[in-house]
Amino acid sequence: MNINELPVSGHERLASCTDGHYHGLIAIHSTRLGPAIGGTRFWHYQNEQEAINDVLRLARGMTYKNSLAGVPFGGGKSIILKNDGPVDREAIFRMHGRFVETFGGQYITAEDVGTSPEDLEHVRKETEHVAGLLSGSGNPSPVTARGVFRAMQAAAKYRWGDDSLEGRTVAIQGCGSVGYYLASYLKNAGAYLIVSDVDQRKVERVVNEFDAMAFGPDDIYYAKADIFAPCALGGVINDDTVSVLKMEIVAGAANNQLLEPRHGDELAARDILYTPDYAANSGGVINGCRDLLGWDAAQSARKVDEIYDTVFNIFRLAEAEGIPTYQAADLLAEKRLKSTDGGPVVRS
Ligand code: NAD
Repeated sequence: MNINELPVSGHERLASCTDGHYHGLIAIHSTRLGPAIGGTRFWHYQNEQEAINDVLRLARGMTYKNSLAGVPFGGGKSIILKNDGPVDREAIFRMHGRFVETFGGQYITAEDVGTSPEDLEHVRKETEHVAGLLSGSGNPSPVTARGVFRAMQAAAKYRWGDDSLEGRTVAIQGCGSVGYYLASYLKNAGAYLIVSDVDQRKVERVVNEFDAMAFGPDDIYYAKADIFAPCALGGVINDDTVSVLKMEIVAGAANNQLLEPRHGDELAARDILYTPDYAANSGGVINGCRDLLGWDAAQSARKVDEIYDTVFNIFRLAEAEGIPTYQAADLLAEKRLKSTDGGPVVRS
C-alpha cells in the first residue's frame, strides 16, 4: 500500500493510495464539527486530477451538508478510480477499507455513486469506520429519497402555496438507488413521472413499476415538467442546460448540481426555485447516525422530515436577503460552523 499526502489548500487533508489495480483518494475538508463523514464514489475518471477536483468538491459539500443537517460530523469523501479491467470488488473494497483505517477514525465512509451496501461489508472487514452496512442502518438511498421528497414538498409549498405534489410532473434524471425510491414516493403522491438514465434497464424498471415516461439522457432537460430532479451526477446545471430548463423548481439528490455558483445565479434570474442539493440530500447522512450515534429508525425519520423546514427556511432567507438560494444555504451552514468551537472555519 503506497500512500501519498497531496498538497491542498482550503481542505485539511488529501491523500492518494495505490496498490496493484487499486487507486483511491480520500479528502477531508473539515473536522470542525466532528469526524469527517462522506461516501465512497467508484467511478471512471479521465485522469487523477479530474478525480482530485471531484473529491475535493464533494468533501467540501459534505461539511456544509452535515452542518445544515445538524449532525456532529465534518466533511470528507473518497473516490476509487475505476479502470477498464475486470473488477474484483472484494479485493478493491477491502483495500479501500485498509486505506480508510489509516485515517484512525478521522474519516468515516459510506455508500455513494457506484458503491453498494455489499461493497461496504467488504470495507468493514478492514475498518470499523464505515456506516450504512447491511447489518446496521442498511441502504441509505430510500431515506435519502424520502428527504428529497420532503424538500420537494417544501419547494412546492413555497412556490405554489401548497405542498401537495398530486398532478405535478417531475422529471427525474437518474433511476439508480435514490432515483428509483424517489419515483416510488412521487408515484404514491400522485405525481406524473418523466425519467432518464444512461442504463436502459434502470429506466425500464421505473417505467414499468411507476408508469413513468422515458426520455433520452440529453432530452430530459427539455422536458415539459414542473420539477427537475437531478439524481445522477453533479454539474448538470451548466452553460448548456441552464437556459433550456422549463421547470419551475429544481430539487434532487445529486451532489454539486451547479457546475459553478453562477449557474445558481442564473436559475434565480430565470425565477427557477433551486433547492440546494446538500440541504435536500442529507437523508443518507442522517440515516448513518443510526450506526454512528445509536439513533433508532424513528429518530432518523423525524430528522429526515425536518428537511422540509430547513429547505423552507433557506427559501425565506434567500428572499429576505435578496440572494440566490444556494448562498442562503451556505450562510445557514456557515452560521453553525462559526458558532461551534474547534478552530477556524475551513473554506475553499
Ligand atoms: P446510483 O449510482 O445508484 O445512481 C445514479 C444513476 O445515474 C445510475 O443509474 C446511472 O446510470 C445514472 N446516470 C449516470 N449518468 C447519467 C446521465 N448523464 N443521465 C442520466 N442518468 C445517468 O447513485 P445514487 O446512490 O442513486 O446517487 C445519485 C446521486 O445522489 C449521486 O450524485 C449521489 O452522490 C447523490 N446522493 C446519494 C445518496 C444516497 O443515499 N445514495 C445520498 C446523498 C447524495
